Amino acid sequence: MAARPHKAMAPTQSEQRMAGRKLQARRLRIWTNDPTCAGCGQVTAFPAGFELDHRVPLSQGGADTDENCQVLCAGPDGCHAKKTATDFGQTRRRRA
Ligand SMILES: [Zn+2]
Repeated sequence: MAARPHKAMAPTQSEQRMAGRKLQARRLRIWTNDPTCAGCGQVTAFPAGFELDHRVPLSQGGADTDENCQVLCAGPDGCHAKKTATDFGQTRRRRA
């Protein structure tokens, strides 16, 4: 029923906000701590098999910390794409 975003591969807001090298370090740190997808429990591959996700979205007051981050499997039908669609509800914020 809900329209799916056409560009599932577009970077998320948080990824755009964080500098690339810093983000990569955080991705590796969190993935190393727990490489399983928080949504479906499958073990994800580094670096392309997962996306970093905020448990509580920043738009809902979540903290931008490792503790608020989790691994979700990537891809158009992955848990990250599904959760992102849920987090933002309607239309994703336009990219500048
Ligand atoms: Zn998953």
